[in-house]
Amino acid sequence: QLILAIETSCDETAASIIRNGNEIVSNVVASQIDSHKRFGGVVPEIASRHHVEQVTIVLQETLEQANMTMDDIDAVAVTEGPGLVGALLIGVNAAKALAFAHNKPLIGVHHIAGHIYANRLEKEMTFPLLSLVVSGGHTELVLMKEHGKFEVIGETRDDAAGEAYDKVARVLNLPYPGGPHIDRLAHEGTPSYNLPRAWLEEGSYDFSFSGLKSAVINTVHNATQKGEEIVPENLAASFQASVVDVLVTKTIRATKEYGVKQVLLAGGVAANKGLRAALVSAFSEIPDVELVIPPLSLCTDNAAMIGAAASVLFDHDKYADMALNAYPGLDLEDQSV
Ligand code: ATP
Ligand code: MG
Ligand code: FE
Repeated sequence: QLILAIETSCDETAASIIRNGNEIVSNVVASQIDSHKRFGGVVPEIASRHHVEQVTIVLQETLEQANMTMDDIDAVAVTEGPGLVGALLIGVNAAKALAFAHNKPLIGVHHIAGHIYANRLEKEMTFPLLSLVVSGGHTELVLMKEHGKFEVIGETRDDAAGEAYDKVARVLNLPYPGGPHIDRLAHEGTPSYNLPRAWLEEGSYDFSFSGLKSAVINTVHNATQKGEEIVPENLAASFQASVVDVLVTKTIRATKEYGVKQVLLAGGVAANKGLRAALVSAFSEIPDVELVIPPLSLCTDNAAMIGAAASVLFDHDKYADMALNAYPGLDLEDQSV
């Protein structure tokens, strides 16, 4: 089974060919970060234009890398949502054109299902499992009892983890995307600032990062007003300690409550060194639960993860038709097989 997958939900134009849902045959990512950097964030209109320019080139390169033609491909998969509508539409229309022209089945994939399935390219999944999804737009704990079935047991009530990283980076004058820069700074500092941790109601698996973000912004502004210097390394370390503490504590609690066999880390913030290290250390004390962390290149947006998630839909004959559209607010649970 060979699936050609396309991902254009945000600022990466990506395509990949995946064999049997777990093996990368080829994988191409064209990042637009340099074009968005000077604006301090992704500009939707610019993102769409780049996708239009890049998508055909990226698809050709993906087939070339694999030494394949469309005749070898069994299905065309594409991210249908969530994401920027104009960006999604480029991928959706490219996928529809390819599927129609070559008479292949078409599969619409939820972007977050993709982030979760990036783990299957590293390790076979064992159920029940729990996935901690931490990305630019999402922070969720997702329970899976079998392939393709998603149950969101907790999610952020305000900012996503990655969004908080990027906003905090902005007040520290770090370039976009700020996550990796905060991560680097955090390792050079000590968590000497006293910042809040939002645990929410007892037993809740929801998250909240806007209070923490505001606390960091206030710390910087208060210091500026008093003419004092902040120590960016220590502030970054304090912010990261707070984020990681909440994420890891809630993940461990859910792991025990739901008796899962595996815990998967997913999304762009899964690239965070502090988070990876804290999870490895916490799970070393729970040896009967397997912790899976994708390689760095599969944490941020790519199409290999979309192909891996599409494989399950393919196995269930869950095809889309030529009416497939972009769905910016697509719900993960609704896409369960
Ligand atoms: P979503 O997946 O929710 O639709 P997205 O696709 O824009 O959002 P991803 O590409 O999954 O988000 O992840 C990008 C986010 O990951 C950015 O917010 C970025 O700052 C963050 N990120 C990347 N590397 C790190 C890191 N090392 N530490 C913290 N955050 C990081
Ligand atoms: Mg991105
Ligand atoms: Fe993403």
